[in-house]
Amino acid sequence: MAEITRDVLIVGAGAAGLTAANDLRKAGLSVAVLEARDRVGGRLWTDVIDGAMLELGGQWVSPDQDALKDTIEELGLETYSRYREGDSVYVGPDGQTHRFTGEMFPVSAETEAVIAEITERLDAMVAEIDPDRPWAHANAAEWDSVTWDAWLRAQTDDDEAVRNLAFATGSAMLTKPTHSFSLLQSLLMAASAGSYSNLVDADFILDKRVVGGLQKVPQLLAERLGDDVYLNQPVRSLEWSADGVTATTDELTVRARFAILAHAPVLYSRIAFVPPLPRRQHQMHQHISMGFVIKVHAVYDRPFWREQGLSGTAFSPYELSHEAYDNTNHGDERGTLVGFVSDQNADDLFALTAEERKERILESLSHYYGPEAKNPVVYYESDWGTEEWTRGAYAASFDMGGLHRYGADLRSAVGPIHFACSDLAGAGYQHVDGAIRMGHLVASNIVESSRA
Ligand code: FAD
Repeated sequence: MAEITRDVLIVGAGAAGLTAANDLRKAGLSVAVLEARDRVGGRLWTDVIDGAMLELGGQWVSPDQDALKDTIEELGLETYSRYREGDSVYVGPDGQTHRFTGEMFPVSAETEAVIAEITERLDAMVAEIDPDRPWAHANAAEWDSVTWDAWLRAQTDDDEAVRNLAFATGSAMLTKPTHSFSLLQSLLMAASAGSYSNLVDADFILDKRVVGGLQKVPQLLAERLGDDVYLNQPVRSLEWSADGVTATTDELTVRARFAILAHAPVLYSRIAFVPPLPRRQHQMHQHISMGFVIKVHAVYDRPFWREQGLSGTAFSPYELSHEAYDNTNHGDERGTLVGFVSDQNADDLFALTAEERKERILESLSHYYGPEAKNPVVYYESDWGTEEWTRGAYAASFDMGGLHRYGADLRSAVGPIHFACSDLAGAGYQHVDGAIRMGHLVASNIVESSRA
């Protein structure tokens, strides 16, 4: 078994781990990044499937994501805007397709007024939340004890308004059923993006993409680290004490003064800690779980929906694919649509055969774009639930009451072990921006400790 000694060992070559590793190197500390997979990037994965370049994981950048934007600029990458000219589409409770422009869905005047009024209330609540410390709000305990669905239903008995308000943080973000997470968790999701209104504004939250794919970010960060990134090295055990850490993979033993666990918190229990992590971490980590969404890619010989004056942007809380967009690559003649199927709908689909699943999903897309949507030349479903080193999508969140009960300890180091991941972030929570912010934060904490 080869032995390596470094100042800091980092478990996970995703955006968080690679950001931290680069910062630590710049500060003069030596690093080793141990990555379980045969590639870097984690939940960022740009791949070619049947000749089509697809973003299997994260891809969009929004204007408030300064940490990610700075990294993109520093790496010399170019961005381009998501196609958004023309009408959006909404499918209502009657199954009818309606065209619309702007952010408000084409619902009745009464429903529109209810949505506007509750959105205003939510924005006011979100404005009071510090995304880095949502548990510190005076109402945190109360807001963490009511489900997102129950709170919305207590505001109005307009079902269409509730469904449209619910899905912004539900199906579209936390990707869990809205009865399974709290109002506080929902407010954190919105606060991490600046406001509830930002979150429902597709032109804001899904603004830009990176030419060549967002996986270029971790790839270029890893390039700078050269041989200090070790692929195919799942960390199996971590011994720790006040003096430092020793990690073992199937092939390597790595000793260091500090460790960073830079992966989804649901995977901490994959590592045998010696001695075990403290009681608080044992308890806390059991209350965090991954959401689940299927990202569906359908490529056509041309972006046919544009010919009908459609932007490709489509929503419906009544559809299997609750949202879909034009996801055509920069400079590509072919047209790509991306759709999303979340939480229990995703569970139900995986009870079907691959053929039945494809048929159901394309049927749903055809409700937005017409029958041509049923005949893509390339079709692919990103299923992060089967990925051993991720186990869901997009990210992890607390169950009911967990955020208020444990949140304050989520990012606390345990001796020499530090934690960084998008799923622990405040600003940029569940996004690449949050992963990068966590990487910077943990690196600066370690640099400070190493100088103490
Ligand atoms: P990860 O990317 O999960 O990296 C962790 C790494 O640790 C992985 O490479 C894993 O293999 C490795 N690892 C785990 N356990 C071990 C172990 N024991 N030993 C060694 N290595 C280990 N975000 C956006 O900003 N915009 C989007 O449009 C967007 N869309 C998304 C769409 C999908 C389908 C998915 C899945 C995610 C999306 N996200 C998006 C979220 C974003 O991709 C993630 O928040 C971010 O990439 C997470 O980065 P990370 O470094 O924190 O963790």
